[in-house]
Amino acid sequence: MHFIFNTVKVLKFGGTSVGSAERMKNLVQLIGSEEPKIVVLSAMSGTTNALVDIAQALYNKENDKAKQLTDALEKKYGSVVAELYSRKDSLNKGRELIKNHFGFIRSFTLDLFTANEEKEILAQGELLSTALEHFYLEELGIGSVLLPALNFMRIDANEEPDLEFIEENLKAELAKHPGKKLFITQGYICRNAFGEIDNLKRGGSDYTATLIGAALLSEEIQIWTDIDGMHNNDPRIVDKTFPVTELTFDEAAELAYFGAKILHPTCVLPAQKRKIPVRLLNTMQPEAKGTLISEHAAGDRITAVAAKDGITAINIRSGRMLLAYGFLRNVFEVFERYKTPIDMITTSEVAVSLTVDNDRNLDAILKELAGFGSVEIDRSQTIICIVGNFTAEKQGVAVKIFDALKNIPIRMISYGGSENNVSVLVDTKDKKDALVALNKGLFNL
Ligand code: ADP
Ligand code: ASP
Ligand code: MG
Repeated sequence: MHFIFNTVKVLKFGGTSVGSAERMKNLVQLIGSEEPKIVVLSAMSGTTNALVDIAQALYNKENDKAKQLTDALEKKYGSVVAELYSRKDSLNKGRELIKNHFGFIRSFTLDLFTANEEKEILAQGELLSTALEHFYLEELGIGSVLLPALNFMRIDANEEPDLEFIEENLKAELAKHPGKKLFITQGYICRNAFGEIDNLKRGGSDYTATLIGAALLSEEIQIWTDIDGMHNNDPRIVDKTFPVTELTFDEAAELAYFGAKILHPTCVLPAQKRKIPVRLLNTMQPEAKGTLISEHAAGDRITAVAAKDGITAINIRSGRMLLAYGFLRNVFEVFERYKTPIDMITTSEVAVSLTVDNDRNLDAILKELAGFGSVEIDRSQTIICIVGNFTAEKQGVAVKIFDALKNIPIRMISYGGSENNVSVLVDTKDKKDALVALNKGLFNL
């Protein structure tokens, strides 16, 4: 009999948490105990970036560069294996594994390199880390099962996860191993609607974990990383920040979507849909409380601030907008046709401004928009998102935010769309000043 799904915990360990042989060994303490678990691993830190570089070199037909990068990465894995295992048979297995995966990476011919092949290369990092950890657990006599994510993790034709497929196939995969309690699987990688190897975009291992947690209605999803939870501001940019101990799903979803890198932009949604609590924990400091994300609504407060770069603002000015119903629909339809989501929008009598973060089809979009009026764009913009529960305190919140930002030029404001979010658009060069000012004005830091 296999375990009852809703008593299972899903534990995801990010790149730094499996970033060296020593860290891989340390995971054993964190995985611990007898409870049923599914452990989701990212690639070792630096690996996916290195694979991206290898693929880029292959695209550019830079054969020597691709070879050099591949050799360097293989060498790194050679030393990990040498340090990780002490038994001869595990060492041999590790070496064989590396040989196979790097042989595969080298097998791509230069003249045939396509987007599909790139995705196959990008998948190697998670395949390596999970197998290496699995062999290590085997060496210690801890029975674990290596669960192939490519057999159950799937996105549909719109690149959205197919939760029904995932649920059915994950359960079928688990049922193949009656009596087993510890499963290791790859984050990030999946198959697409055509059955090809694909991925859940950068940072996607978080998404794998929440999709598995949601599919099994698991007890809890733990995201183990290199910081003690969601901080009130971006710790990469602002000096003084502190961990927020509790977040609602809505707050966490907004922060992740608007740039808090600790979580993949859409990974909160599956957990929220099925009400599975998510805990953010620190592998380097396992006793720290971290952040609990759940339905539990905290009182009125400003929770945290996040920033999302790479935003393009588009302004459409049109005399015809005056009194013209249907104008906005026409504008939105252009973005819909090109599957480009809009993040912020403001309107006036004669113009509409909106922002996008995906400029894949921007040229085509701008061409169509030109039919509605004069169009201007500003690149290198940043959305700063202030998140919290503003139900009762709205007025006070707005005053605090705009007072804090009084010296920062603001390009757009989105206020009142939800009780959880106030967003402002600034030039990316003003981002740091804005985040520091908000840290001072909203958190007294
Ligand atoms: P992992 O490899 O474990 O997935 P990530 O690098 O993706 O780790 O995410 C953790 C990092 O997110 C932290 O080291 C931190 O620099 C960054 N980060 C950005 N914004 C926040 C925030 N608001 N709170 C915590 N960490 C954040
Ligand atoms: N390895 C992938 C990345 O670097 C996925 C992840 O770490 O979540 O983006
Ligand atoms: Mg991450």
